[in-house]
Amino acid sequence: MTVASTDHAPGHAVSVACDGGGGALGHPRVFLELDAEGKVVCPYCSRLYRADETGHVSEVKA
Ligand SMILES: [Zn+2]
Repeated sequence: MTVASTDHAPGHAVSVACDGGGGALGHPRVFLELDAEGKVVCPYCSRLYRADETGHVSEVKA
């Protein structure tokens, strides 16, 4: 079998890694899974990440 099945379209991130930015304010690196709206809040540092329509995930500044 050479056909690979993919659950997610290429380029569409479903998770984001967060380490709190490192340094004194950082925390152990964790992978956060985006919700159905493409957003996730880090439980360690409360940073909000959101995926845009291209699937690129970036931190949302308050
Ligand atoms: Zn974090």
